[in-house]
Amino acid sequence: MEKMECPHFKKCGGCMYLDMPYEKQLMIKKKEAETLLKPYCSVHSIAGMENPWHYRNKVHAVMGRDRKGKIISGVYMEGTHKVLPVEDCLIENEKADEIIGTIRGLLPSFKMKVYDEDTGYGFLRHVLVRTAHVTGEIMVVLVTASPVFPSKNNFVKALRQVHPEITTIIQNVNGRSTSMVLGDKEHVLYGPGFIVDELCGKKFRISSKSFYQVNSVQTEVLYETAIRAAGLTGKETVIDAYCGIGTIGIAAADRAKEVIGVELNRDAVRDAVLNAKMNQVKNVRFYCNDAGRFMTQMAAGKASADVVFLDPPRSGSTEEFIQAVAVLSPRRVVYISCNPETLARDLAVFRKKGYQAKEAWAVDMFPWVPHCECVVKLERRS
Ligand code: SAH
Repeated sequence: MEKMECPHFKKCGGCMYLDMPYEKQLMIKKKEAETLLKPYCSVHSIAGMENPWHYRNKVHAVMGRDRKGKIISGVYMEGTHKVLPVEDCLIENEKADEIIGTIRGLLPSFKMKVYDEDTGYGFLRHVLVRTAHVTGEIMVVLVTASPVFPSKNNFVKALRQVHPEITTIIQNVNGRSTSMVLGDKEHVLYGPGFIVDELCGKKFRISSKSFYQVNSVQTEVLYETAIRAAGLTGKETVIDAYCGIGTIGIAAADRAKEVIGVELNRDAVRDAVLNAKMNQVKNVRFYCNDAGRFMTQMAAGKASADVVFLDPPRSGSTEEFIQAVAVLSPRRVVYISCNPETLARDLAVFRKKGYQAKEAWAVDMFPWVPHCECVVKLERRS
């Protein structure tokens, strides 16, 4: 594979493996998974990418100024609130970077000020661009410090003139001084307020605040690995816990009797419900709740399940969740994890509750970045 240079290497904190051949990274990630999962099961393989560049479908840029007052956008330098200017990135979607560049260029003629974290003055804080890998739809989110957006119609018009491929533009208002990028209030400035993408032969609408895997090519590999591990025959009651916009459950629904999804983020649950409808998948239901609490309620209600998928955030699952799984007593559990450390921690709890890890696979969702994604199949001890 061709070696690529990046002027921001080691400064931006992103691609820490950029100076390493891709094959070697894959080996390191597999080793890491093997080391952490060793007490439980072996790791079959790691699935890498054929073309590991520009895979990120979601790009986030912080707006700022350099010392000369020129408008810049990029990432926070590690541990600071200083903006490192990044115009092109080897892992980000190229069209998204282009759109962010256009926005930077438009700001002066619209007299739009970028927000200054120290003084609290200024308007535009962040730009978020989401691109749909299959359909090509593009969402632009402008995160502003205040709701008042002078000449917003002309700004939208000017941006769309340069990039007619943008399908929706959203203003998100975040007036607080927090490390959260998005605020609660949103105004759709153009288009439907969401984008639609396709995964595993199904369509998915994605709202600005819903989680969506950032590497679409590898997401299909990940989901297929997980669904295969579940060994579905069409007769199973399946739980999709931490389900986001319902991707895993909807992708698996044709191979199950019924699917029950649970997710904490309200917007994601709304997307999930509409996604089931859009795909005419009738055997799935979604609930907005904490996954642990929901499972505990299910267990108390004498419900049952045959297979449980769980795909928690980096912090992993909880003892409460795993305890409820033990009561519900599914034959099989498929754990999808973006953090092998919390995965290993949770596997210890699963083992205590009667679930043995049998097989594991790694999928490289984040080339050049030291993150490792794993799928583990667990079975109930009889
Ligand atoms: N399976 C989905 C989402 C995985 S990301 C996909 O592949 O796209 C993890 C999801 O867990 C996020 O959508 C997040 O909002 C949700 N989440 C975080 N904490 C949760 C909790 N306590 N209960 C339920 N869902 C939670």
